[in-house]
Amino acid sequence: MGAQTKFKLTYGTMFNPPEEFHERYESELAKLKSSFGKEYPMIINGKDVKSKEKFENRSPIDTNLVIGLFQKGTNEDALAAVAAAKNAFKLWRSTPWQERIKVLRKAADLIEDRCYYIGAAMSLEVGKNRMEGIGDAVETADLIRYSCTQMENNKGYDTQMGTDPFEGYLSTNKSVLRPYGVWLVISPFNFPGALTGGPAGAAMVAGNTVIMKPATDTPLTPYLLAEAFRDAGVPDGVYNYVTGPGSTLGNALVSHPDIAGVTFTGSFDVGMGIFRKFANEGPYVRPTILELGGKNAALVSRHADIEMAALGIVRSSFGLQGQKCSACSRVIIEEPVYDALVKRIVELTNKLTIGDPTNRANFMGPVINKGALKDYTDFVKELEADGNVLTGGKVLTEGEYANGYFASPTIVADLPYEHRLWKHEMFLPITTIGKVKNLEDGIKISNDVLYGLTSGFYGTDEEAQWYFDHIEAGVNYANRPQGATTGAWPGFQPFGGWKGSGASGKNAGGVHYLQLYMREQIYNQVKKA
Ligand code: NAP
Repeated sequence: MGAQTKFKLTYGTMFNPPEEFHERYESELAKLKSSFGKEYPMIINGKDVKSKEKFENRSPIDTNLVIGLFQKGTNEDALAAVAAAKNAFKLWRSTPWQERIKVLRKAADLIEDRCYYIGAAMSLEVGKNRMEGIGDAVETADLIRYSCTQMENNKGYDTQMGTDPFEGYLSTNKSVLRPYGVWLVISPFNFPGALTGGPAGAAMVAGNTVIMKPATDTPLTPYLLAEAFRDAGVPDGVYNYVTGPGSTLGNALVSHPDIAGVTFTGSFDVGMGIFRKFANEGPYVRPTILELGGKNAALVSRHADIEMAALGIVRSSFGLQGQKCSACSRVIIEEPVYDALVKRIVELTNKLTIGDPTNRANFMGPVINKGALKDYTDFVKELEADGNVLTGGKVLTEGEYANGYFASPTIVADLPYEHRLWKHEMFLPITTIGKVKNLEDGIKISNDVLYGLTSGFYGTDEEAQWYFDHIEAGVNYANRPQGATTGAWPGFQPFGGWKGSGASGKNAGGVHYLQLYMREQIYNQVKKA
């Protein structure tokens, strides 16, 4: 249990892990590589299910590597999963919450035990560097644990209310939170661990049963989580894992009337489409938790520590190749420190190592797929025409890059603030940098986007307080060298967004999250005194 040594891995501490982390990762990576090409089933009602059509999961590092063969689930599979989850709900909802959290804590421990293997899977299918991969796996375990602890701290959300002042009667009241039913979880490619296991764990702790559909680019990590849930003793039908295209299988699930609630994490357009469909087609309003995109800005004051700001900005701009919803994709700097900071950001960017992310030396891996690489090329053309590309802008095709989707980290200056790419989420290793006269102008520009997910500030403590009072985003950091806008962790910085970045206004891994998966009932009981 390497991850349970004294060192606690989080995204804030991952830059200097003990040597043991590397050894364990390498040995699990070798194991995973020896299973390349293996076929993986769906898991419905606790049973392995295969469909007629399959799809290959090829690595973006080298598209000749077939990580595994997965099932292209059909409408029938969607129906079978809903039926299984609906049936299992009868038992799971009445299983005491103390027993539910016992099983889910066991699942969290198994996920943490397996974090090197799961982390290696994320390196291979997402392109995460090793610490990001292990980090995502450990975060998954911690998100599940956090939901268990919340349930426990709130005594199952069973609360005695006031006694009515009825003369001659004893009129007692109780508020209880109870599960909804079958919960659909749809996750994105970039955090297939945390954004699958986090919401699914919360839904199950609350007493719902789950159907999980992962992104087609990254089905292996969610499969490994499904195995962990099954191995931990989550009963048949409580957690169902189905794979296939969002446009067909995902759509069939969203359209099913027996889905009681959904957690979707992904792009704004797809999420809003699901929201509208779910609302229009259902008989009544059902809970819809949306965690959507970001266009996160770092704002730097003239009083900032330039070295700290440059380090945090580069880490957040290019960690996971800029494909984090929390990535720093905009940098806004007060004039007096603009030249010095830009120079340092470019220097640090030029030192970043790119290549096979399973290799310890590499900070950046590939982008997710061919479409992302094409978007990169198109955006760079537009940025070259309207701004000044200070570094990067190149697709890498030689040597070890030849069979993968590699793009160089790109910094763009002098792009007019009215340009559409100051507002559009590119979701690639591209960051635009701009100058402002003062912090008031800087915060206006920071807030002038559809999104409100994360933000970062560098300056004095007093300025930071002012910044926190005015910034429109869910997770906000000040003077953080570990990452200007990235690095949230359950129990430390719960993660979620405002405006176009999220629908619930409550953050995952925080004190208000688990309740989203439950409805309130009041029990009033009257007796003659
Ligand atoms: P995406 O293209 O929106 O896909 C997300 C998921 O939706 C995938 O599982 C996809 O399946 C599925 N899907 C697509 N069309 C669907 C439909 N019509 N019905 C049901 N499901 C459908 O997003 P992505 O490219 O994987 O992820 C990147 C985006 O996620 C970015 O915008 C990023 O900011 C956002 N994100 C947000 C957060 C947050 O916490 N706010 C965290 C991470 C990522 P297929 O893969 O099969 O198409």
